[in-house]
Amino acid sequence: AGAGVGGGGTRFDLEKETELRFEVEAGEKVQLELLTGLAEVFGSELNRNKKYTFGPGSKIAVFTWQGCSVSLSGKTEVAYVSKDTPMLLYLNAHTALEQMRRQAERDNEKGPRVMVVGPTDVGKSTVCRLLLSYAVRLGRRPTLVELDVGQSGVSVPGTMSALCIERPADVEEGYSVQAPLVYHFGSTTPGTNIKLYNKLTSCLADVFSQRCEVNRKASVGGCIINTCGWVKGSGYQALVHCASAFEVDVVLVLDQERLYNELKRDLPHFVRVVLLPKSGGVVERSKDCRREARDEKIREYFYGFRSASFFPHAFDVRFSDVRIYKIGAPSIPDSCLPLGMSQDDTQLKLVPVTPGRDLTHHVLSVSCADDGEEGAGGVRRGVLESPVCGFIVVTNVDTQAQVMTVLSPAPRPLPRHTLLIMDIRFIDLK
Ligand code: ATP
Repeated sequence: AGAGVGGGGTRFDLEKETELRFEVEAGEKVQLELLTGLAEVFGSELNRNKKYTFGPGSKIAVFTWQGCSVSLSGKTEVAYVSKDTPMLLYLNAHTALEQMRRQAERDNEKGPRVMVVGPTDVGKSTVCRLLLSYAVRLGRRPTLVELDVGQSGVSVPGTMSALCIERPADVEEGYSVQAPLVYHFGSTTPGTNIKLYNKLTSCLADVFSQRCEVNRKASVGGCIINTCGWVKGSGYQALVHCASAFEVDVVLVLDQERLYNELKRDLPHFVRVVLLPKSGGVVERSKDCRREARDEKIREYFYGFRSASFFPHAFDVRFSDVRIYKIGAPSIPDSCLPLGMSQDDTQLKLVPVTPGRDLTHHVLSVSCADDGEEGAGGVRRGVLESPVCGFIVVTNVDTQAQVMTVLSPAPRPLPRHTLLIMDIRFIDLK
């Protein structure tokens, strides 16, 4: 790579099948421009002579199959060219999936259902994005199923979702501008309520299967499932559950041979389990870095990308106009459970929450469930399995006046009155 200065930026000449990796310094931004040749960022092609801006903390790889030159301006923490990438192996995986789609088309069958697994920081989300972009560039309509409740690429953290992919992810913004199907999970680790996690996985699988029955393109496109980095104990069981709920045909295991062997042992023999190396470019992210990324995702939900495009509303909501629930009662010893009730039931129970000061800053999901009356014993049916129509943040609680102030993407009134509380908090600094 010949680095030279031109037009205020640093020029990098990339040979074919190499990539330029860079990280943007905290508080800075970096501009990237493709000068000659062809290049892509995680599967999305770059346009020539267009300036792409990446915000603080972005970790980017510009890959070229044919060779190219690009220029970078702004403060990068690191910027280097690597010849050693697993892109050819990822492309092979894509080619195999495309063959399966062709076969599905011919034989009137389902397209590939793929689960991408591995420990944290091995590039799972990146591989999903790459496979989706390559598929959509060939005219396919694959579905992204996002089960990573910590770092969702689709919606706010604490959710599980599905999104039909109709165009490659935006180079700068990712998937933000489409309409996903989103379920409330409520926390950033599946371990907080593994029963709920598995149940919502099954819900998503059901909805996806129903869609495939009526939409041939969706069926042939198949799905790419992004999972959590928790691959031991119940986390591992959740992967096995997911594979069966979605009737997965292919599992791509990134980086971990042990996980690969376990899945080969435990999944039915017709499931193809493939071990793939992780890219040397994937950067490990600290706890703080993950927290910031989550905050940013929530900020984006309310204010739009780069805090510039949406204008959220603030208004008061009377306690008497809403019903707030938490999913899952705290676990109690088996011996104390009412007769005929199991620990599982408590994890999936809707527990009414009395609004108080401690609600401040919590993110609440607005459930699409009908605002029907409570049934016998205060049981509301269907809330767990209902998708979410949006999110609000409680910015103030006035127990005297019995109202709370909320931040909402839409003006009052709230579209529905059933609210589900998340463990996740967001402090609005605007
Ligand atoms: P998680 O632990 O959250 O599940 P993950 O395994 O899904 O993480 P990614 O989110 O795909 O990992 O990647 C982690 C970070 O590394 C991201 O910021 C991504 O942009 C960056 N990254 C991925 N591949 C490369 C690469 N080849 N060069 C530079 N940065 C990369």
